[in-house]
Amino acid sequence: MTIKKRLFWSNILMIAVPVVFTALVGVLGHVFAVVLFLIVRSFIRKKCPVCGRFQSGTSHYCAHCGAAMHLQCPDCGEYCADEALFCHACGKRLHDLRR
Ligand SMILES: [Zn+2]
Ligand SMILES: [Zn+2]
Repeated sequence: MTIKKRLFWSNILMIAVPVVFTALVGVLGHVFAVVLFLIVRSFIRKKCPVCGRFQSGTSHYCAHCGAAMHLQCPDCGEYCADEALFCHACGKRLHDLRR
């Protein structure tokens, strides 16, 4: 390879690398933003386990069918996460409540 050719290719690389890098970061930034949006949305909105309609994350009962959005402890009345196996407030076993 002649020096001239080598210089030509290093010039191409000097232009191409930042362009490709910028494009890649731009695409990754968009993908990251979409993923972040979906994660945040899943926290804000909750799907009703019975009718499948979306509710606000803070609602305890479905506005469409009245189903309980969270598992409620039968002992202390505390609302627990849907996947909770025990009440986080009193330790009551919640396995048997699942239908
Ligand atoms: Zn519902
Ligand atoms: Zn409890």
